[in-house]
Amino acid sequence: MGLCLAILPSCRSTPVTIRAGLLLDGRGGQMRDALITVVKERIRAVGPWQGTPVTHDLSRFTVLPGLIDAHVHITGYFNRLGKIHTRDDGETAAQRNAGRAANALATLRAGFTTVASMGSEGDKELRNRIEKGSIPGPRILTSLAQFRDTSLSPAQLRRAVRNRKAAGADFIKVFASNAMQKGGTPVFSPEQLGALCGEARRIGLPSVVHAMSDASLRRVADAGCSTVEHGSFGTAEGLEVLADRGLFFDPQCRLVVDNYLENWSRFAGGAGFDTTTFAVLQQSRPTDPLLIRTALAVPGLRLLFGSDAVAGAHGRNADDLICRVREAGQDPMDALVTATSRNAEALGLGGEIGRIAPGYQADLIALDGNPLREIEAVLRVRLVMKGGKIVR
Ligand SMILES: [Zn+2]
Repeated sequence: MGLCLAILPSCRSTPVTIRAGLLLDGRGGQMRDALITVVKERIRAVGPWQGTPVTHDLSRFTVLPGLIDAHVHITGYFNRLGKIHTRDDGETAAQRNAGRAANALATLRAGFTTVASMGSEGDKELRNRIEKGSIPGPRILTSLAQFRDTSLSPAQLRRAVRNRKAAGADFIKVFASNAMQKGGTPVFSPEQLGALCGEARRIGLPSVVHAMSDASLRRVADAGCSTVEHGSFGTAEGLEVLADRGLFFDPQCRLVVDNYLENWSRFAGGAGFDTTTFAVLQQSRPTDPLLIRTALAVPGLRLLFGSDAVAGAHGRNADDLICRVREAGQDPMDALVTATSRNAEALGLGGEIGRIAPGYQADLIALDGNPLREIEAVLRVRLVMKGGKIVR
């Protein structure tokens, strides 16, 4: 590559070439010994390598689009006392920033170049710090906050959706079901839910809805929402409704529950973390992969990949991909497609990220091994490029 380094401004438009031993394009396609050409932050060309010298020789690796996690809580961290951070735990701004920067770095190094954060007071600031380049981290899409207040009228909810967008939200997050401990029954009325998801659709925001039971899934589909999260008490019948209406479905396999159980003493005592919760988590541990198995058997259901990573789980997001393949029986290529192009589509970025194709953002990762043969290769991330810059 001579004297010209891609990171120098004077050489910014010099093409960077990458040779990939195996290329997975994010949509189910694959190519052996491929050449990817990157100019600035985007992919310019993809084709067979024909013996030319390259900037980065990744011929020993599998190269695929940067992974996308459709459901994280990236600002959650364990505080100076080793407990889950809460608003009133006395942490300084510097401590909060350090905790969150560590989450962002761990997530990025694990090969996740984009995440959707389900809304917290710290999301916007973290997103800005990463966008400005002050700290390394994945692209963050955020709902900023969540819709939970069932006392608002449809007109008030519509206004609130517009306000959320004006405040910088990338999508809306709605709690349409009670907590698992309360059976996951619907909370918003059909009119309220229709107002939330209808307004979001009208102004171009995805509507991501936490829903648990079949009754709740049906109501979410009727309201024209775009994505269902969890669906823990759903059955094939409820999931068929989602498939028929073209909703995305994002169930979790294992990481979130395992992480809560492993770190229980750090969460215990906080809001919603009582002995009942512990029991519910223990019960759902074996059944979560079964729900994914059920979902995979529903024709046409568009599955997403979201780990629901909270404090303690950031950077381990890919564990849930392994669970999907090993415990829920998902085809490895299909699992990788959900975590790349399918997630991008659900987040409204289907033309920007999630694929290795001309015109797309140069978000690429290199794995030591072939994840189609051995899904655990997703843990062996050897290179991460985000927007054309090597960040690992
Ligand atoms: Zn969550």
